[in-house]
Amino acid sequence: METTESKFGEYVRRIQHFQEALSLMAWDLRTGAPKNGVEARAEAIGTLSDEVFALVTSERMGEFLTDLESRFDGLDSKTAALVRECRREFDRYRKIPRDRYRAFVVLTARAESVWEEARDRDDFALFRPYLEEIVAMTREFAEYWGYEKEPYDALLDPYEPGVRTADIDPLFAELKAETVRLVEAIADSGHRPNAAALIRPVTRETQREVCRWALETIGYDFSGGRLDDTAHPFQITLNPGDVRVTTRYDERDIRTALFSVLHEGGHALYEQGIDKELAGTPLYAGASLGIHESQSRFWENVVGRSRAFWQRYYGELRDRLGGGWDDVDLETFYAGINDIRPSLIRTEADEVTYNLHIFLRYDLERALVSGALAVRDLPGAWREKSRELLGIEPSRDAEGVLQDVHWASGSFGYFPTYTLGNVYAAQFREALDRDLGGLDPVLAAGDLARVRGWLRERVHRPGKQLAPLDVLARATGVDHPAAEPLVRYWRGKFVPLYRL
Ligand code: ZN
Repeated sequence: METTESKFGEYVRRIQHFQEALSLMAWDLRTGAPKNGVEARAEAIGTLSDEVFALVTSERMGEFLTDLESRFDGLDSKTAALVRECRREFDRYRKIPRDRYRAFVVLTARAESVWEEARDRDDFALFRPYLEEIVAMTREFAEYWGYEKEPYDALLDPYEPGVRTADIDPLFAELKAETVRLVEAIADSGHRPNAAALIRPVTRETQREVCRWALETIGYDFSGGRLDDTAHPFQITLNPGDVRVTTRYDERDIRTALFSVLHEGGHALYEQGIDKELAGTPLYAGASLGIHESQSRFWENVVGRSRAFWQRYYGELRDRLGGGWDDVDLETFYAGINDIRPSLIRTEADEVTYNLHIFLRYDLERALVSGALAVRDLPGAWREKSRELLGIEPSRDAEGVLQDVHWASGSFGYFPTYTLGNVYAAQFREALDRDLGGLDPVLAAGDLARVRGWLRERVHRPGKQLAPLDVLARATGVDHPAAEPLVRYWRGKFVPLYRL
């Protein structure tokens, strides 16, 4: 007999099939689809997205949810989590009048292309009216969704369920003070790594091989994925057996491709590690953006920029790079991949100063949403914050307020999840260090399977069945983001490296 549960499961699977098509189309657009087909492709994506929206918010979905919620306590845990997740999405979209949602989709699609032009021409005025409208609509949506203390909480919640500005404020304040202190101490140390030693030509073909090797080394399963070239690296999941990674190459600097592939590879290990029982549901996903980012930062920074990892693997890397690297010893390489200095562009920042870029954006976007800051004053406010936090300021808006696409896409509330990712990663590192009886010896022995196994069981497997802070609590015993593990990790690493 067909039960409501099985019909619901089928209905949800149907939505996932549309999502898979959408993901494949998005992947294709960013990995070499011909330029002349882009416009028609965008229309096709629009049509399928409409279809997904209709399915997620349909009367039928509403009936399923009401029925299943009426006997919620009798549901198995997977179905219960699925009902919760579908309810969240259902309410989120149903609370916005359909015509306002459409207007927002059209507005942000236009704004993204205007933003690109504005950035290329270094012309904030061109983008300004679009951003003003996006901010106004964002505030309108926050009212529909509702919040307890401030509208920004309503925007943060979909990215990081259960985390509030009240959790983030003290965390960021503490980290900000520590980061500024550390960056100053490093600048004053007079000790600089010879990063220039790593700048030398490596062909794209060689780099591609190195990236495949790096992915295999950390345990990425190529029988369930692939690696492709792109302009802005990303990881995308089509289905549990098809988890893709992309990277970009700088033929003068191996670090660009190597660390972006370790980053995206970290995201991919998460996706490949989720319980396959969750396939065909929206629970086959990360618990939140912050938890997802913790996995990429873990493999990129905690592992990929550690001395222990390269003690084991630098020889292999050097062999793969061919001749011309004999004069670069382990210590030079290790110092060169840990060059800490303030810079203007977020995506190129090192692991310490990176968070300063986030604090800047968090303060500004929150002020925009609360109405304390007007869009016309944004470029000036950006420069001022940049001077205050990084000690430098952009001479062009293209390298300042116009550098990120997020605000053009209407993604307010997204930025803090990057720093939460760094924070969670350090919390996981400490728990792992404790459970394994020392992480460094395990890395130095190349026993990455043990590290991956720990992450898989404690972080990856539950997918989106658990809220981010429940994942954190389950893995570390601490149920909130905390700054201390990150600060301790930095001290342990940078005090000896920069002889502070
Ligand atoms: Zn990432």
